[in-house]
Amino acid sequence: MSEILVALAGNPNVGKSTVFNALTGLNQHTGNWPGKTVGSAQGRFSTAAHDYVLADIPGTYSLMPHSAEEIAARDFLCFGGAKALIVVCDGTSLERNLNLVLQAMELRIPTVVCVNLMDEAAKKHISLDLPLLSQRLGIPVVGTAARKKRSLKALTDALDRICEEETPQAGYAVRYSPVLEGAIALLEPDVANISGRFDSRWLSLRLLEGDSELLCQIRAHLAPGALESESLQRSLDAARTYLMEERISTREDLEDAMATALVNAAEALCRGVVHTPANSDRLDRKLDKVLTSRLTGYPVMLCLLALIFYITIAGANYPSSLLSAALFRVQDWLTALFTGWGAPDWLHSLLVLGVYRVLAWVISVMLPPMAIFFPLFTLLEDSGYLPRVAYNLDGVFQRCSACGKQALTMCMGFGCNAAGVVGCRIIDSPRERLLAILTNNFVPCNGRFPALIAILAMFFAVGGPFAGVFPALLLTATILLGVGTTFAVTKLLSRTILKGVPSSFTLELPPYRAPQVGKVIVRSVLDRTLFLLGRAAAVAAPAGALIWILANVQIGGISILGRCAAFLDPLGKLMGMDGEILTAFLLGFPANEIVIPILLMSYLGQGTLPPPTNLSEMHALLTAKGWTWVTAVCVMLFFLNHWPCSTTLLTIRKETKSLKWTILAAVIPTAVGMLLCIAVSSMAKFFCIFLQ
Ligand code: GDP
Repeated sequence: MSEILVALAGNPNVGKSTVFNALTGLNQHTGNWPGKTVGSAQGRFSTAAHDYVLADIPGTYSLMPHSAEEIAARDFLCFGGAKALIVVCDGTSLERNLNLVLQAMELRIPTVVCVNLMDEAAKKHISLDLPLLSQRLGIPVVGTAARKKRSLKALTDALDRICEEETPQAGYAVRYSPVLEGAIALLEPDVANISGRFDSRWLSLRLLEGDSELLCQIRAHLAPGALESESLQRSLDAARTYLMEERISTREDLEDAMATALVNAAEALCRGVVHTPANSDRLDRKLDKVLTSRLTGYPVMLCLLALIFYITIAGANYPSSLLSAALFRVQDWLTALFTGWGAPDWLHSLLVLGVYRVLAWVISVMLPPMAIFFPLFTLLEDSGYLPRVAYNLDGVFQRCSACGKQALTMCMGFGCNAAGVVGCRIIDSPRERLLAILTNNFVPCNGRFPALIAILAMFFAVGGPFAGVFPALLLTATILLGVGTTFAVTKLLSRTILKGVPSSFTLELPPYRAPQVGKVIVRSVLDRTLFLLGRAAAVAAPAGALIWILANVQIGGISILGRCAAFLDPLGKLMGMDGEILTAFLLGFPANEIVIPILLMSYLGQGTLPPPTNLSEMHALLTAKGWTWVTAVCVMLFFLNHWPCSTTLLTIRKETKSLKWTILAAVIPTAVGMLLCIAVSSMAKFFCIFLQ
């Protein structure tokens, strides 16, 4: 039995990925905000009747695309070769979602409409007569609540049915204005002769539109020279002249006329199908009044951020020390094992004291804060709060001549800057996308968080029952500094090398949804925490070996690590740090998580890492090496502002396809970091002299 390729389309944020995950058992990223699916994914599932390959394509409002993602979605629908189509709609705003359904139906691919979020529609007392809609559209329409897998049975049954139909469904066809229909009538007879796999009415409309990129792709699927045939060109000229006489002279005019017809058709189709009570979104509006108003929007945002940090800091300490103790015990076993085997000393030293210890460090320092921070952050994402953050920050971004959606990509950067950079695809304007990519690194990713938390806890904690409060507030201030730098650098770039006016965009505020707490925890631990940890470990293990070599191979009695540190010391001192710290930053290029372990190894002057220690031992070591609060501040500033890690830089190269922008993405934060560090350390020195 051959597999049937099925495309899964829909507006952003209607539950496509949830349907995809439920059917295929895969784990596509879901989140309650428009634009978070920026790539396509494929997965398999089977019913009793067929085996399917399901393609989850980026969310799109229309097949007349306005962004790279919408173009990708349209191209897949038109040329991806799907044999069937599922269009997922939001049951709480069905009429608006029908726009895409009607356009997709013009492709004449066997289609099922999946009206999702039926549970939410019921909660809002919206009633939907889906059998009536199905009758009007002439294709199956099924209601689902994709979070409950059982509800998808009706969808797969309908899919089986349409895949078995001998003759494809005729289905509803939008009637455009008499002028447009007149033009189609002039063109369609000729188009029908050459249309091949395409529907002749659909192809006529595309020819009238004249989108050269789309036509180029269509041409590749037709007989050679088909579009250039003389009779077709003649009728196309006649149809265009007719449209012009009727004042439809540009592509925009034509698309306006089509959009108007689509809106009217959706409205007519929904009459009698959808019954919405007047105050169906009263609670959402009340919440929005608090979360997005000028007076309360910012304070709530700050409090939430500080609360998340507090919980992360306060909660991470204890599991961190438990983990380090456990991992240290494992190291003893490993040592015993190596001794038992009679392995040479250098091998034990390289593998256990080098590779294993760096790994143990990374795990015990990173895992607890990540395992707490990610679920909390995902809860915010799932509830629909993130787009409100973007909404609140939109004004500031506009003033920086940038796009409000940059706030969303910034939020994604909190998890991982590489993910944030990929997320920048949700920004339509290339200029604004570049601004967002170049500045994403100013929000610290999870590789940098634990180090910031550790330094804050060591140098700025106060005792008492709320020991975590002060560091949490300072961490909030640090993040705000990162956000402030993002604004400043964005503004500077848009005044200089990336000049331009901000584009207007519509950011949809999704309804608030109660997050699925259990799923969020499992998903964020499995998908994000373990994924990032795996990546860090994959880097940390070879880095452990490299660092071991650098620390053990001596030139003239001094290790290579020591020589590097000595060379960088003057610059380090100027920046309020020292050579060892700068060396650690340089060697931490593969992953920021390993900066602190390298530093400790270099401080201890031993060829191996110290066992994962608790914070007070680490504090004692650092102060013995001359750290003061000024050093701590400078190290934090440099953690916040320096070159992105290798994965992020590779991602930037891939996304921008330009070496120039990739280099700039590394140079800008490094320059900012150096300037800030030099400024802080010089001021501190000045005040010291002044006060003496
Ligand atoms: P996509 O952007 O279309 O892929 O949408 P997602 O699959 O990411 O879903 C958006 C949000 O809606 C997520 O928070 C989902 O958990 C939630 N969601 C999806 N389907 C349903 C549903 O049927 N009922 C409810 N209440 N929430 C849903």
